[in-house]
Amino acid sequence: MLINQKNRIALISVDGDPAAEIGQEEAGGQNVYVRQVGYALAQQGWQVDMFTRYSSPEQAAIIQHQPNCRTIRLKTGPAEFIGRDNLFEHLPEFVAQFQNFQQVEGFQYPIVHTNYWLSSWVGMELKKHQPLIQVHTYHSLGAVKYRSIADIPAIASLRLAVEKACLESVERVIATSPQEHEHMRTLVSTQGQIEVIPCGTDIEKFGSIERSVARQVLGIAPDAKMVFYVGRFDRRKGIDTLVQAIAKSSLRGQAKVQLVIGGGSRPGYSDGIERSRIESIVAELGLEDCTTFPGRLDEVVLPKYYAAADVCVVPSHYEPFGLVAIEAMASRTPVVASDVGGLQFTVVPEVTGLLAPPKNEVAFAAAIDRILTNPDWRNQLGEAGRQRVEIAFSWQSVAYRLTLLYSHLQAQNTPTPESQTEIAA
Ligand code: UDP
Repeated sequence: MLINQKNRIALISVDGDPAAEIGQEEAGGQNVYVRQVGYALAQQGWQVDMFTRYSSPEQAAIIQHQPNCRTIRLKTGPAEFIGRDNLFEHLPEFVAQFQNFQQVEGFQYPIVHTNYWLSSWVGMELKKHQPLIQVHTYHSLGAVKYRSIADIPAIASLRLAVEKACLESVERVIATSPQEHEHMRTLVSTQGQIEVIPCGTDIEKFGSIERSVARQVLGIAPDAKMVFYVGRFDRRKGIDTLVQAIAKSSLRGQAKVQLVIGGGSRPGYSDGIERSRIESIVAELGLEDCTTFPGRLDEVVLPKYYAAADVCVVPSHYEPFGLVAIEAMASRTPVVASDVGGLQFTVVPEVTGLLAPPKNEVAFAAAIDRILTNPDWRNQLGEAGRQRVEIAFSWQSVAYRLTLLYSHLQAQNTPTPESQTEIAA
């Protein structure tokens, strides 16, 4: 007999380790989302286990983050980094390891919240063998991604089929923005249950330091016009558009423009290759003197960079949500972002920042210049951004809305009112 404990929840993120260092290849928004949702749900009384895979033999099997929140790593293929497009064949092992873990612990999870299409498949497989409520967050939709890239991977047709099956069969799919909701309906399926619950950010960590203090700590001159990018080095992020926009800025030569491009990379990996490409564009455009690459920015230093910046630029070709935009807004820094996806939801044009067509360096240059030449307006945009994040995008409010959803689904799906139900293994 295994016990089905009502307040236990498994967050499954096979490819995005919530305990990983963020900011390198394939470790970005999804990892942050799972970790922060896990922490916030634990604070609201859930017993949270976050499941991922081993990607190195040195990693611990279990990390106890808080008394009721752990990361649990399951053996899934060789203990080494495996890119997302090559992970599917190892998923049956992940399912078996998850089932084995439940057996050893003596309970079954009544709710799994899966992340990214790979984990959605895991959740749907588990559902074949145990009673389960499945909630899913895509983080990225193949149907959107494959429209914008030339090299479609071999896994594409399977991914699209799994994403469609997931939307049509799980208890609830979370869209993190109304734009992602629209894409699910127009590009994936008209069937299935979707609820919009945005991503969040840490409103205490971001926004706790003054611009002048942050600049002193980072050694950035008080009169510098600092333009900031942070995120993974990935072509989809459009960093080349930002560099070209700086080359076109009317402020060049008149003011001390400083471009800071933050994010980790490893030589030989895809992020290292993209960083080299960006560095050569910087060199070609003669921007080496005013551009710095500080590398991966950890959670201690990152809030200082956001605070120090005059403007944060998110030039992505597409973002389902885009955590960087709300982190900057929480730090009272205006955002210039591509007019796409979730960025249309988070950034309010002329109120918390500006939107520009993706890949359009002329429009980006004009938007960046408008903010850099008007410090009073920059401050107003920054304050409005902070207010918007406080109201709409704290992790606590996200976790509260998820709690309501899980409880509602449990009430709908539980035949008996008892808090613990015994289920035959
Ligand atoms: N990030 C970080 N340090 C870095 C680069 C990125 O902490 O050096 C974090 C960033 O603050 C954000 C996340 O990685 O929380 C990126 O999330 P986003 O949704 O913007 O993009 P994704 O990685 O999901 O494409």
